[in-house]
Amino acid sequence: MPKESGAVALPTNDLAEVRVSVRGAGRLHSGHVWVYRSDLESNAAIPPGSLVRVADHRGKALGTALYSSSSQIAIRMLSPNAVPEAELSGLIRQRIRAAIAYRKLVVRDTDAYRVICSEADFLPGLIVDRYGQMLSVQFLTQAMDTAHVRETVLTTLREELQPSSMVERVEARVRELEQLAPRESQLLHGTGTATKTVFTMNGVQFHYDALHGQKTGAFLDQRENYAAAALYAHGDALDVFCYQGGFALHVAKKCTSVTGVDSSLPALEVAEENAQLNSQPGAKEIEWIEANAFDLLKDYASAGHQYDTIVLDPPAFAKTKRDLPAAARGYKELNLRALKMLRPGGILVTCSCSYHVSEQELQDIVVTASLDAKRTVRLLERRVQAQDHPIVPAIPETAYLKALVLQAV
Ligand code: SAH
Repeated sequence: MPKESGAVALPTNDLAEVRVSVRGAGRLHSGHVWVYRSDLESNAAIPPGSLVRVADHRGKALGTALYSSSSQIAIRMLSPNAVPEAELSGLIRQRIRAAIAYRKLVVRDTDAYRVICSEADFLPGLIVDRYGQMLSVQFLTQAMDTAHVRETVLTTLREELQPSSMVERVEARVRELEQLAPRESQLLHGTGTATKTVFTMNGVQFHYDALHGQKTGAFLDQRENYAAAALYAHGDALDVFCYQGGFALHVAKKCTSVTGVDSSLPALEVAEENAQLNSQPGAKEIEWIEANAFDLLKDYASAGHQYDTIVLDPPAFAKTKRDLPAAARGYKELNLRALKMLRPGGILVTCSCSYHVSEQELQDIVVTASLDAKRTVRLLERRVQAQDHPIVPAIPETAYLKALVLQAV
């Protein structure tokens, strides 16, 4: 967490105090910002979403945090300093500006990117994505959802970015976990028709509908990996778990044929609209197949289908550590079938967005799959999420996406 200029010396504020265990304090000393409920020492009732003073078990001040009365993550640190209630809005404004300034440094070739990435921008519980002139906002914790914090966030975004519209995206499950009243996704600012737009990343155009689709609408974290995949792609390409065609559309210019596979028909319908949007006269059509990827890969591999480029970008198989063995089997099966279908010199872009599966584990899975497929792979690139989804090494959970670019010889 950045040290804030002008912060007041501890302990001079009137916030409720939360004491954390030795283990909780240890996490904070290592630079992490979360303390789990099981690591709280005190049990006093603290208002949901309030700003709290954090102290160790002896009462030594550790800083200021946002409190959740329901999440297992009871505390998300905001600052190692004292932050009086009256300075919260100012601090949030300052961090939003810093997040925007950081994007100016790292974002290129796109008008769609993550503007604010929660803990990785020191604004835990806040996600803001930009699509052209539109902003999509998610308030994910009790503290971020309080009326005055919402107001500060929205006003600052309007002042700094002058969006044509702002849409709040709601995930019902998240609000339930935070014990927040249900709320619908809605337009917060702008005109009634302003929830759709077209954005351009790496020269490829995409439709964006703020009130539909997964995540905030697109998988912006793959933006730099789309460009990397396009660099090596050639011949016949298969984009497995293609969603609205992110990889497929990027590799299309380099490939003789492209097939996208996904189990979601609505996603494929948008993928086809995206293909039309980018279609050049005489360009080959992209084929979209609605199928379970596991079944399709099995059938295609046994039918002897062959490709020169295969992308595997499945959903997170390991949501918790307990899912790891099953997740590993899933990744292994996908990679095995893909490697069997790659022609000599073929490119495999294999991804995992499961935080619990490390890059080394993914690489080990690919090696095991390659031995079973009797292929040797070369590692061309080890990649992560795009830089507008920053990685803070002291908060390991901020590094979740892995993408290995391989060549099967
Ligand atoms: N590659 C995409 C993102 C993929 S997200 C992009 O860059 O935009 C994961 C996708 O997997 C989702 O679109 C989801 O609909 C799809 N999916 C989930 N389970 C599936 C399955 N068993 N078979 C095929 N698709 C599946």
